[in-house]
Amino acid sequence: MDEVKYRLLVENSSDSFWAIDENYKLTSFNNSFFESSKLFYGVSPFIGMSVMDFLNSNNKTNWLPLYNRVLKGEFFSEEIIEHTLGLQLCFDVSFNPITVNSVICGAAIFSKDITARKNIEQQLEYKVNELNTFVYKATHDLRSPLVSVIGLVQLVKQETALSEIQNYIDMIGQSVQKMDHLLIDLVKIVNVSQGQLAKDKIDFVWIVDEVLDSLAFRPEFSKIIFRKHYNVDIDYYGDSGLMNSILQNIIDNAIKYKKKEDEPEPMIIIAIDVDASQVKIGITDNGIGIQEGLVEKVFDMFYRATSASDGTGLGLYIVKTAVEKMGGKINLSSVYDKGTSVSIVIPNFSSI
Ligand code: ATP
Ligand code: MG
Repeated sequence: MDEVKYRLLVENSSDSFWAIDENYKLTSFNNSFFESSKLFYGVSPFIGMSVMDFLNSNNKTNWLPLYNRVLKGEFFSEEIIEHTLGLQLCFDVSFNPITVNSVICGAAIFSKDITARKNIEQQLEYKVNELNTFVYKATHDLRSPLVSVIGLVQLVKQETALSEIQNYIDMIGQSVQKMDHLLIDLVKIVNVSQGQLAKDKIDFVWIVDEVLDSLAFRPEFSKIIFRKHYNVDIDYYGDSGLMNSILQNIIDNAIKYKKKEDEPEPMIIIAIDVDASQVKIGITDNGIGIQEGLVEKVFDMFYRATSASDGTGLGLYIVKTAVEKMGGKINLSSVYDKGTSVSIVIPNFSSI
């Protein structure tokens, strides 16, 4: 009875189990092993079949040394990566020699799928790294204007000429403003990543107009030609705060990184296309562009790819976090000295 129960348990386990004799021939296996062999190697294993027979030369180099170790009497575990259907799966495999009268006559192997755990570990590692960068850079970037203020206060104390004092006070004001911007951006990051998603009806035409109004103070704003293409007859629902923040940052960049010269005419194309399932947003400019090799980094925290930036380098990080929070995708392509194009796709929450 116990034997039957034990067999049933092994048979129905989601972990794979198989045993081989000293010639690599299968002496036993459970259902999960059978299914995995079909999935990974396209074979239906049977008792008496050599495990070497269904491995291709690549896999043989991975597995053969492990089988040889266990057949020499070593108990051990290995993490093994398998690829199938474009997926990468990770297994924790334990190898156990089988001995009869102190003679090794085979091995029992147990394999557990730990892909989900590995993915979580990787995500956690990524988040920890991100947090470390965040703390390091935030401290550094907050400290530098503070250090300027401390220095300037010293200078003011020693200065008697009123016009010089006024000058120093203006500089202190600029440093304090820089700190304020950074703190506002840091608060935005926390709000974007921690806040609940709202489901508002979004008026893209209105948001874009508001954003452009708020950016009209940028130097040479009036020289830029804006082309707007809207296809917004279908209602779109999403988080209006996040959407606002996305459009604000992307359009701000398109304006801020225009070329100094006026040839070709500075132009920004804003295209918004809503359908029942998603919104596609495209913002294209013919500004200074981004140097090759730096494009991959622009979504990193605090990253600025040009000295023309007067910002904190958090804009695109906030945008990416907001887009991903709404389940969307963002892509940025750029040609140095020609222009930049950002395309974003976000699901329409009306259907959810
Ligand atoms: P912030 O947005 O915090 O005020 P920022 O604009 O420097 O500062 P991001 O918006 O994150 O930071 O952009 C990162 C970098 O990517 C910028 O410093 C700039 O070099 C580059 N960049 C982004 N958008 C454009 C664009 N449209 N044209 C040229 N370069 C761009
Ligand atoms: Mg920016």
